[in-house]
Amino acid sequence: MIKIALLGSTGSIGRQTLEVIKNYPDRFKVVSLAANSNAELLEKQINEFKPHTAALTDPERAALITALPVGTSLYTGDKALIHAVTADCDVVVAAVSGFAGLESVIYAVNRGKDVALANKETLVAGGEIVMRLAEEKGVRIIPIDSEHSAIFQCLNFDRKAAYRRIILTCSGGAFRDYTKEEIKNLKAADALRHPNWLMGKKITIDCATLLNKGLEVIEACYLYGAPIEKVEAIVHRESLIHSMVEFDDGAIMAQIGYPSMKLPIQLALTYPERLKCDVPIIDLAGKKMTFEPIDDDRFPCFKLAINAYKAGYNYPCAMNAANEEAVKLYLENKIGFYDIAAAIEYALSKTVKTEVSEESLKETDKISRLFVRQKYGL
Ligand code: NDP
Ligand code: MG
Repeated sequence: MIKIALLGSTGSIGRQTLEVIKNYPDRFKVVSLAANSNAELLEKQINEFKPHTAALTDPERAALITALPVGTSLYTGDKALIHAVTADCDVVVAAVSGFAGLESVIYAVNRGKDVALANKETLVAGGEIVMRLAEEKGVRIIPIDSEHSAIFQCLNFDRKAAYRRIILTCSGGAFRDYTKEEIKNLKAADALRHPNWLMGKKITIDCATLLNKGLEVIEACYLYGAPIEKVEAIVHRESLIHSMVEFDDGAIMAQIGYPSMKLPIQLALTYPERLKCDVPIIDLAGKKMTFEPIDDDRFPCFKLAINAYKAGYNYPCAMNAANEEAVKLYLENKIGFYDIAAAIEYALSKTVKTEVSEESLKETDKISRLFVRQKYGL
């Protein structure tokens, strides 16, 4: 029985993780559930899965949870996520969105827990710390992000296998068929209509700006020890191939599957074993596959992320924080689409180069968000 601590249980990945768990009650046991403010759903999940630990970061919202099963303790406040990394869990599913997930992932690795990682911002901001610690503690960082799961599968579940090139595929996001002039005026509501995937709001906007692909290139560098020159991204609008690996002899392996996160979530919990997964079977007959380069002019965020990674130090963290803040403002209709890239550029220009530590990253994250708000007088 694998004991699972699920951080971010009320989100898109969290809810799908619980569906996977429900399909295999003999294999998986939820020992803890954690979220930020969605008290109603967390309460429902607690009563269905009966974990011994639950956590809701927002104390006011946590006070609304009154019907707890006997034997469940509820934690709240800034350290709620830390409490949810329980001593008895075998694996932590990190499905919190954003930088907010970093501290709990570092804590989990320090406790010697394997981490099934959806929360890519954790690696973007703190990849150096997380991967070094994981090596020291001998714990596994298992990819849930579909592209990185695809790469893992192409590498035969061997993160250290030799390869020549990693090729990440990208749907192109909701604005892939619009001109720059049109995109300029499109709103968050338009961006939220992603053509191929149904996800949380933040990542869906990141897909529209293509910043998500930049974050994923960085994620791949950390997960597979790749120099950035060996990682490429290409637009593949059909989202049939989830990513590819090219080997020294020129062979390219691709993982194809129905675009659902259930497969990578389930595989992260069971590999190398493959179990039946409730995703539709794809009929390939009549399907087309196309590939196009990323258009940096219409989607400047992709390069901004890559350049921040190349700058090293705390720059990727600053880029990530500026993006999180700018996306929040875009979702609130306070700034336009291309202001997201402008906000990232502004914050990066103001960032003071700092050695990476958990403390310095928290500081960078805070200041970078302030730069963005300052730029827009908020
Ligand atoms: P959602 O916005 O749907 O869910 C985020 C989850 O994190 C919610 O449970 C939320 O709680 C919780 N959360 C956020 N902040 C905190 C906090 N401070 N303390 C405790 N809990 C917190 O996001 P997604 O599920 O879409 O994405 C989660 C992560 O997975 C992201 O990093 C994303 O990039 C990555 N990912 C997602 C994919 C997808 O298909 N959705 C695909 C690949 C990667 P609450 O509901 O209470 O706010
Ligand atoms: Mg992805």
